[in-house]
Amino acid sequence: MSDAVARGPSDNERPAASLFADVVGQERAVGALRAAAQRPVHAYLLVGQPGSGPRAAARGFAAALLCPDGGCGVCDVCRRVLAGIHPDHVLVERTGAALDVDDARRLGALALRRPIEGSRQVLVVGDLHLALLSAPALLKTLEEPPPSTVFVLLADDVPPDLVTVASRCVEVPFPPVPTAAIEAWLIGRGVDPSRARLVAEGAGGDVERARLLAEDPAFSERLALWRSIPSRLDGHGAVSGALAREVLRATDTALAPLRAEHESEIRMLDEDATAMGERRLPGRKDVLDRQHREERRWRTEELRTGLGVLARVYRDRLADAVATPPGGVPPSRAGTSPGVGPLRPGEAKGYEAAVALVGDAAAGLRRHAQETLLLEALFVRLGRLGD
Ligand SMILES: [Zn+2]
Repeated sequence: MSDAVARGPSDNERPAASLFADVVGQERAVGALRAAAQRPVHAYLLVGQPGSGPRAAARGFAAALLCPDGGCGVCDVCRRVLAGIHPDHVLVERTGAALDVDDARRLGALALRRPIEGSRQVLVVGDLHLALLSAPALLKTLEEPPPSTVFVLLADDVPPDLVTVASRCVEVPFPPVPTAAIEAWLIGRGVDPSRARLVAEGAGGDVERARLLAEDPAFSERLALWRSIPSRLDGHGAVSGALAREVLRATDTALAPLRAEHESEIRMLDEDATAMGERRLPGRKDVLDRQHREERRWRTEELRTGLGVLARVYRDRLADAVATPPGGVPPSRAGTSPGVGPLRPGEAKGYEAAVALVGDAAAGLRRHAQETLLLEALFVRLGRLGD
């Protein structure tokens, strides 16, 4: 019997397992950050949509930068960085809708601060893509980097106004996680393969969402609800309003697993505070703010997934329709679907218009339009297309 079995994983084997455990399908980015942690420069820019891993990777990277052993994953420093409660790992989040000049000033002041515990501090800045007006202030901070500070900037993308800021950083891209990687990851966590595929497709390259959907027994029911919409619409306001409310109620239910997780995170923080003899830990409000943003993003993503399912129903019907001669019976309706008769004139055009309407609604969602009104208007219009 070999020694390795008796003593378990060595210190050299551990970091791979723990520091970046929450980053899925981003081997390239993780490799770049691991290498960077050995001899860091003063600023990094992690670019990718939420759920593709930049936030989780920034935590692991910060641990590697602050840990006396370069990121062992198990020491007190690593543990506290990963839990978000190490004083030299500071998360700077916007206070309003954008990362504004006040936020940039706060960052500038923090950058000048001396590290509290060790010889280095890591300032992680969220939502850099929303920093358009504060770009000059940020640039100033990045161009006069204090030697003991490493900046880790996070952005969904890099708009033209921020190209100069980005040019002061080493950029590490996080592309959307491939559906296959999410599927494999879910199966590795014990999710049934057929369910893993459905969840991976509904996750939109977002691992956080995939993880929660996999634990959500109502996910398949919600997909079925969205799929049932076309057959339930009649073009009347009352039915459309009721459907919109039903969909939004289901969306609220979808938030339950995330909320439960957030509550347990706060409970653990408060227990840590009690153990340290404090009433509240200083970072508690930042954690609450982050949770609130995550819940809002989840809602939007859930509706976006639903609209995607709805668009696919119409696209499938459209594909059927164009493959069928006028007055003929589409292949999918032959024999087995007594409720749906032969193709009517103009039906294909109607499906085409439906796909476009659903696309418009998804775009409206991104602009934060009022959800109930948006869905109600969409359902009324879709219901009238057949007339
Ligand atoms: Zn460590």
